[in-house]
Amino acid sequence: MRRRDFIKATMLAFLGQALHRFTFASGQPKVAIIGAGVAGLSAAHFLQKYGVSSVVFEASSRIGGRVFTKREANCLFEWGANWIHGNQKNPLFAFARKLKIETNLTPEESRNEQVFLSSKKAIRGAEYQERLKFFRTVEEKLMSRSRGTNVSVSQELDRISKSEKWTQEQMDWARFFFKLYVEENYGAPISDIALSQFSSASWYEGGDYVLPGGYDQIPTNLAKGLQIQLGKKLKKVERISKEEIKLSFEDGAVFVCSQLVITVSLGVLKSGWIDFSPKLPKEKLEAIERLGFGKFTKVFVRLKEDSRKRLISLPTWIKFFDRVTDSGFQFFHLAKFSSCPLLIGIGVGQEAELLENLNGDELKRYVLSRAPFLQADDIVELWSSDWGKNELYRGSYSFPKHGSKDTDFDLLGQSVENVHFAGEACQSDVYGTVEAAFLSGRRMAEKLKLRI
Ligand SMILES: Cc1cc2nc3c(=O)[nH]c(=O)nc-3n(C[C@H](O)[C@H](O)[C@H](O)COP(=O)(O)OP(=O)(O)OC[C@H]3O[C@@H](n4cnc5c(N)ncnc54)[C@H](O)[C@@H]3O)c2cc1C
Repeated sequence: MRRRDFIKATMLAFLGQALHRFTFASGQPKVAIIGAGVAGLSAAHFLQKYGVSSVVFEASSRIGGRVFTKREANCLFEWGANWIHGNQKNPLFAFARKLKIETNLTPEESRNEQVFLSSKKAIRGAEYQERLKFFRTVEEKLMSRSRGTNVSVSQELDRISKSEKWTQEQMDWARFFFKLYVEENYGAPISDIALSQFSSASWYEGGDYVLPGGYDQIPTNLAKGLQIQLGKKLKKVERISKEEIKLSFEDGAVFVCSQLVITVSLGVLKSGWIDFSPKLPKEKLEAIERLGFGKFTKVFVRLKEDSRKRLISLPTWIKFFDRVTDSGFQFFHLAKFSSCPLLIGIGVGQEAELLENLNGDELKRYVLSRAPFLQADDIVELWSSDWGKNELYRGSYSFPKHGSKDTDFDLLGQSVENVHFAGEACQSDVYGTVEAAFLSGRRMAEKLKLRI
């Protein structure tokens, strides 16, 4: 156990006893926040700025939630979020800048990638650009038909391909692009994505940035000066009066607050793991049900030093698609940019589910089958991020599922009297991102400062 963890654990044991029952009447904060991910920390951070104290309860033994940087053998592993999307008018980017956190622009994808279709023949350059142009025109057609429809992206794609009498080759390329460019953003198959909200998220302009010193600098900075209780798994939320809400935790601890902010993932809300008494309103439960919670799994592939040298000239993105099994997988070539000999494999939707159920040997075989440029002895070690299996998340990020309504993200963010909701799935403009979590927390703090 490292020193920091030890201090945390000792504090936990102490606070666990002290916390058994205390109420805001005894001078404790009136605001309780559930979840120390970016949304919960951002709410507490901005409340602190407005002079309102709060206490954050987090089920796990760390802060950051789906922002999780692991440091091992001089390498950074971004287990969750990797990129800040855009530097133009992006409040999260501005926050990082203000704190002087280093950010590096990732080269734009399409100019520098290599594609393997099932034939294992590598395709790059002009041939690839030609296919990309085809995809962009299909994408535009889909967007032009998105308003007011209630079909999925794949249903509309089928319709277009039939009416334009696509060849098998065109179909394969369309499947390839949708799998590896579109499904990645949603963590779900296009048959699950609502056409009406296709590309509805308004991402900030200006490229994708990594944080070479670790994405966890964002939650660490947000958490400064806050009261955070780790190891507190919320099980029940009970209204005991118009003013008071009683929180019961798995370890038997109880806390009473007058304002509650829930920031657990949509996956956790869907699971019904937290018991609300009285139950949440029907419209909110229906929005929780309708929205999608995608799966996005990273596989970290550590390369041998001489393999790293051999593979350094590979492009930034290497993509694989097999038309027979309709499976797609891609690698981000981190070793190209950093001293870490890592390739990061990415599988989404059904692929992510499959990956989460593989043991070590199966995972290695899987990676080799998707990477014709790798040999078994290039690989030293492999890890999979497995967010879907983790009961504290149950997936990776939210998306507008086929059958959902365009008001559902906002509905999820609506308060039920003094029980409030924040988190990436409560922000209809940039849902699914760290920006969304950050903004939803800030919005919540602005709302609460007027109530306290
Ligand atoms: C693999 C992966 C890659 C991603 N890549 C990117 C990216 O590159 N860029 C980007 O912008 N976004 C990315 N995202 C999405 C981004 O990480 C999330 O949108 C964001 O971090 C969500 O923050 P949040 O605070 O809303 O939720 P969370 O981070 O999920 O925080 C919720 C917290 O609640 C805690 N909790 C759960 N249940 C309970 C309970 N019962 N009691 C108490 N606490 C509880 C959890 O432990 C967690 O800490 C990625 C996500 C994943 C998984």
